Amino acid sequence: MLSQRVQKLSESLTIAISQKARVLKAQGKDILAFSAGEPDFDTPEIIKEAAIKALHEGFTKYTAVAGIPELLTAVQTKLKKDNNLDYETNEIIVSNGAKQSLFNIFASILDKDDEVIIPAPFWVTYPELVKYHGGKPVIIETFENTDFKITAGMLKNVITPKTKALLLTTPSNPTGSVYSKKELESLAEVLKGTDILVISDEMYEKLVFDTEFTAVASISEDMLKRTITVNGLSKSVAMTGWRFGYCASKIEELNKAMIKLQSQSTSNINSITQKAAIPALLGEVDEDIEMMRKEFEKRREFVFEEFNKIEGLSAAKPVGAFYIFVNHKNISNDSMDFALKLLDKTGVAVVPGVGFGSEGYFRFSFATSMENLKEGIKRIKEFVR
Ligand code: PMP
Ligand code: GLU
Repeated sequence: MLSQRVQKLSESLTIAISQKARVLKAQGKDILAFSAGEPDFDTPEIIKEAAIKALHEGFTKYTAVAGIPELLTAVQTKLKKDNNLDYETNEIIVSNGAKQSLFNIFASILDKDDEVIIPAPFWVTYPELVKYHGGKPVIIETFENTDFKITAGMLKNVITPKTKALLLTTPSNPTGSVYSKKELESLAEVLKGTDILVISDEMYEKLVFDTEFTAVASISEDMLKRTITVNGLSKSVAMTGWRFGYCASKIEELNKAMIKLQSQSTSNINSITQKAAIPALLGEVDEDIEMMRKEFEKRREFVFEEFNKIEGLSAAKPVGAFYIFVNHKNISNDSMDFALKLLDKTGVAVVPGVGFGSEGYFRFSFATSMENLKEGIKRIKEFVR
């Protein structure tokens, strides 16, 4: 009965593990979840107030598919202010989370067997979306000793006449790596003269520690033309449940195609969320964002030190996002087995590396209280021992 396309799709492992932890907790089990990529902070008050105002004003109707003009102008302002990127408002499309932006992109660019280059470890959703749309994920394995980043040489090696796009995530989920301007320039050099698109997922842009974020499209005029910038407010502004993401691109026919697709699938995103997102994009909650970033930075120091004290485990220091990717190869190479046993024996939920394309690791989110982090790491230490 089911389509082959949907049968081949795997469930999102990050969501599946988080849901499993939720169910066990509801059954009264002592569960500590470090599986969800979700800030533990509440959405800033200014945003809630903007939403309440919109409701009271009766702003409850359908809007333009890509978003209301005021919102598109706010995204445009953000891209200029934060990233020095010049986009027209008709080059921006707002969707139900960056996840839908990515869905729209792959649906609009991929034909059968078109290749998308994805560096591993990757966020679980990318290869699934590529396959769902008939494309072929071409995975480049990266390594801990080079900060899990690809180089120009690695990129050159996998380009074929079928290459449609390169997907970059900076900062990375799950490793927390961030590409420097120089590193991006060398990747850009490889792409020059090709018609390869770049999909740049910059979801964790605001969450960087002792490093600078560089927007991929800002590298050069050539990169601006080929890059589809994807971003949102879920992680940086603690707005996961509001469902707000966007993409920006200079490619007119692609933008038209994505709007057409969204007009036939979900139409505009929630009208209230559109109004609520505006103050966040215009910098009105920058203090809240900085407060959260600082708190994540403290927790990062703690988890980095603690994991590296545990015999058998090691981890590189993340410079962005709120995950630490812990190496457990000295204990076992089977990350699914490791994570399931850890959950079963200690109630600690982490996401196995296999979901991100890298065996022998688990992803541990530090977007939770210090108290939980201390207790969780204590349990992991006992489990490993
Ligand atoms: N990209 C990355 C790298 C992510 O970790 C997430 C987390 N869900 C998303 C995109 C999608 O976020 P959202 O759909 O909530 O905007
Ligand atoms: N991006 C988050 C994560 O990696 C949320 C879950 C999801 O959408 O996959 O955990």
